[in-house]
Amino acid sequence: MGRLRSTSWTNWAGNQTAHPIAIERPNDENDIASIVRRALDSNSRVKAVGTGHSFTSTALTDGHLVVMDSLRHLIDVDRAAGTVTVGAGITIGDLNDSLHGLGLALPNLGDISYQTISGAIATSTHGTGARLTGLAGQVRALRLVTGTGEVVNLSPSDGSLFESAVVNLGALGIVTQYTLSVVPAFRLEAVEGAQKLDDLLSGLESHVDDNDHFEFFWIPHTKWALTKRNNRTDKPVPSPTLSSRWKHWYSKSLMENYAFGALCEVGRHRPSLIPRLATALPSSGQTSYVNDSFRIYASKRIVKFLEMEYSIPRERCAEALSEVRAMIERRGHMVSFPVEVRFTDADDIPLSTAHGRPSAYIAVHMYKGTPWPDTERYFRDVEEIMMGHDGRPHWGKMHFRTAADLAPAYSRWNDFLAARETFDPERVFANDYLRQVLGS
Ligand SMILES: Cc1cc2nc3c(=O)[nH]c(=O)nc-3n(C[C@H](O)[C@H](O)[C@H](O)COP(=O)(O)OP(=O)(O)OC[C@H]3O[C@@H](n4cnc5c(N)ncnc54)[C@H](O)[C@@H]3O)c2cc1C
Repeated sequence: MGRLRSTSWTNWAGNQTAHPIAIERPNDENDIASIVRRALDSNSRVKAVGTGHSFTSTALTDGHLVVMDSLRHLIDVDRAAGTVTVGAGITIGDLNDSLHGLGLALPNLGDISYQTISGAIATSTHGTGARLTGLAGQVRALRLVTGTGEVVNLSPSDGSLFESAVVNLGALGIVTQYTLSVVPAFRLEAVEGAQKLDDLLSGLESHVDDNDHFEFFWIPHTKWALTKRNNRTDKPVPSPTLSSRWKHWYSKSLMENYAFGALCEVGRHRPSLIPRLATALPSSGQTSYVNDSFRIYASKRIVKFLEMEYSIPRERCAEALSEVRAMIERRGHMVSFPVEVRFTDADDIPLSTAHGRPSAYIAVHMYKGTPWPDTERYFRDVEEIMMGHDGRPHWGKMHFRTAADLAPAYSRWNDFLAARETFDPERVFANDYLRQVLGS
């Protein structure tokens, strides 16, 4: 087992830093159990960490920070059951590659694949697709090292103990492996275009229902939204040519990352220019392309930012977004990042942000380096609107909510607290974030 003392750890966005007693690199589950038992004996804390793609302080600890790098292998494939079992530290990118080699795939994914499967599931990470759930909905079983150092296997027959351990915020223990539902590998045809926001919102329900995966990005200070429709297709993936490679690099690397980053940097120095710069983002034309599903879902992210994302009941989406639009102008926020809107089906996982309701997700971003008071004012204004629509914050993205006002937003809140009592009675996995969102 590897161990590094007196060091620090920082997340992807660079806004959260931990100063743990030690960064631990266990080789296996036994090492993890012994880290937990040592922490119990010395009255210190433990926290598993993924790849640090959360914006909140969810992964921080002043105790033992556990990096799951060694537990990242495909353990079993059960084609008859349509499941795979994987080490919890595998990144979604590596999992996608392994599944593809087996002719399999995850049915839905978010828009990057750098995260670990455990970190993504722990915070209720999701993609878009009105007939699909977030990643947590794919979990069929898991193994957990609890706060007493025991190892337990959990599956649906364990009822709410299992369901609570899926979206767990790292509060119940350290997951060492997951069994996940998978589907035969498939291809998607992506169609990207632009539409006036008012027109889009007036036909929103059919856009969402008529596509396997529909999302859009409204460009603040303009009337335009960029739309993305991804649908299953039997069309083959075309062989790459020099021209198709150039087009892909131009749109995905140059325009969506480098040129967009340059616009954000200009806007950071001269915020008053942001509304004019926003008109430089594309508002016409349509492109389409076909690829393996996982290559369509995930994109490159070079430009750094801070993000808040709220889940609200799907039918409130148009109204809530219109309120955000009016608020940005009324309050004079200068926003260079598009507002992203996605959709998922309901699930029954106690702390899933889609618990009990088909959901719309509204995400707001601020370019990294924007003065924090400006970012905070914008996020707090958005949060106030979302709270008026029964909003639930993404557990891994910025928000200012506390246990007192989160509890009423989740009908199975007490199930989760009971599972915490069972699995972590001594609060070995506690940190400041959990004290904020779950209470002591
Ligand atoms: C550029 C970018 C794009 C993103 N896109 C999306 C998106 O499309 N959809 C979406 O919903 N979210 C998105 N996110 C948010 C991201 O998916 C979540 O924050 C996710 O939790 C990050 O995973 P991670 O591996 O980095 O985990 P970390 O951020 O390192 O940890 C997250 C939590 O998981 C816990 N944890 C990690 N491993 C374990 C384990 N083995 N056992 C128990 N607990 C564990 C940690 O303790 C912590 O509480 C995005 C974030 C970024 C920065």
